[in-house]
Amino acid sequence: MSVTTDRKPRWAKRRLELGRTAAVHRILHSTGVHTVCEEARCPNLGECWGRKTATFMVLGDTCTRGCAFCAVATGTPAPPDPEEPARVAAAAARLGLRHVVVTSVDRDDLDDGGAGHFVLVVERLHGQGQTVELLTPDFQGDGGAIDRVAAAGPEIFGHNVETVERLYPSMRPQADYDQSLAVLARVKQRFPRLLTKSGLMLGVGERPEEVVEVLRDLRAAGCDIVTLGQYLAPSSHHHPVEAYITPDQFDAYRAAAEEMGFLSVAAAPFVRSSYNADRVWERLGASPGASGERR
Ligand code: SF4
Repeated sequence: MSVTTDRKPRWAKRRLELGRTAAVHRILHSTGVHTVCEEARCPNLGECWGRKTATFMVLGDTCTRGCAFCAVATGTPAPPDPEEPARVAAAAARLGLRHVVVTSVDRDDLDDGGAGHFVLVVERLHGQGQTVELLTPDFQGDGGAIDRVAAAGPEIFGHNVETVERLYPSMRPQADYDQSLAVLARVKQRFPRLLTKSGLMLGVGERPEEVVEVLRDLRAAGCDIVTLGQYLAPSSHHHPVEAYITPDQFDAYRAAAEEMGFLSVAAAPFVRSSYNADRVWERLGASPGASGERR
């Protein structure tokens, strides 16, 4: 297997390079929005903020789930802030974003899982001429909630499977692999104009053949875009890194995924779901409502 369990190899190291991030920091903090860039301690923050992109995290900064890989705080969240969609829109406008990526914490405490809040965010961003990419929770498989969000018409509907099925009990104990696939399949079946997207973190104990199996399952669910990146533990209390995946192995996964027919595949150590998402969208067809015409 093409991995290494040595101390962090050079390809998995990255300097944060925060020098060009001050302007973005000011905008985000003055508008009072949360980003997954900060909350998840993303290693790409210096690069992404340096080119004035960020990924918004809505529905607060406290998650109802406790996944073993995630740095976001778990607890009892406050009720959704009705002003948050407007604040996200204001921050996205001030950053000059054309394509806005929005994710959220899990809100299993809410009847609709936060679906209505996502809809308000999409409407706001579309209202100011921006395209929208969502990375949503599984809404506990609630078809009505999923449909509501998809019907709002984000250009890209993303939901991450995160890891292989065998590792769900340790990595995502409150989630279900088949349920996550079903979210993507439902969106593609009922809203075929939307592009769907998913992602995995590697190096958590998965086997290569299991990764390929997930890629096959995603394609069978009609998933269009896939991302694969190296997992980096946010702290010593989180799931440990089991292996550093070599660049060659990432290349092999990319080739396998491309062979399966994904429209876009990103596979490299520092790839994250939202990494260069605007560039992927530009390549695939950058105008609101364009997704259906290309297929
Ligand atoms: S990869 Fe995504 S989460 Fe990480 S810094 Fe870039 S935009 Fe933020």
